[in-house]
Amino acid sequence: MQEYSSDFENRVLDDDEIEELPERSKKQAMKRGVMMRCPCCGEGKIYRKYLKIVDRCGKCDEELGHIRTDDFAPWATILILGHLLAPFIIDVERNIAPPLWVSLSIFLPIIVVATLVMLPPIKGACLGLMWALRMRGDEQH
Ligand SMILES: [Zn+2]
Repeated sequence: MQEYSSDFENRVLDDDEIEELPERSKKQAMKRGVMMRCPCCGEGKIYRKYLKIVDRCGKCDEELGHIRTDDFAPWATILILGHLLAPFIIDVERNIAPPLWVSLSIFLPIIVVATLVMLPPIKGACLGLMWALRMRGDEQH
């Protein structure tokens, strides 16, 4: 199994080299990611635009731009929001059964806003976890 690490100029590391590196806290890195802060120092911002990850942390200079979370953050956002909103929407439709235009005018904005609000912290958590695991997102296994 091969892993990547920014600690050694982005070259491929083997398992023995990875085991010699200090372990990174997954929980702390994910918490910092949810707060949209650098998983390494917890201070620098991880986004330079809405979902565009900075190349390097502005505080500690940790390289972050090479970590590719790809579709995991949208997938996790859909999973979480689906479990939060679907029971509520189904309950409203069963008990109140408002006209379709009322349902759409209420639920669509809620879904869109909730998705846009939740996506950055979820992507941040994913980035934090990948950073803690020394992953890049382009591994072939
Ligand atoms: Zn940092």
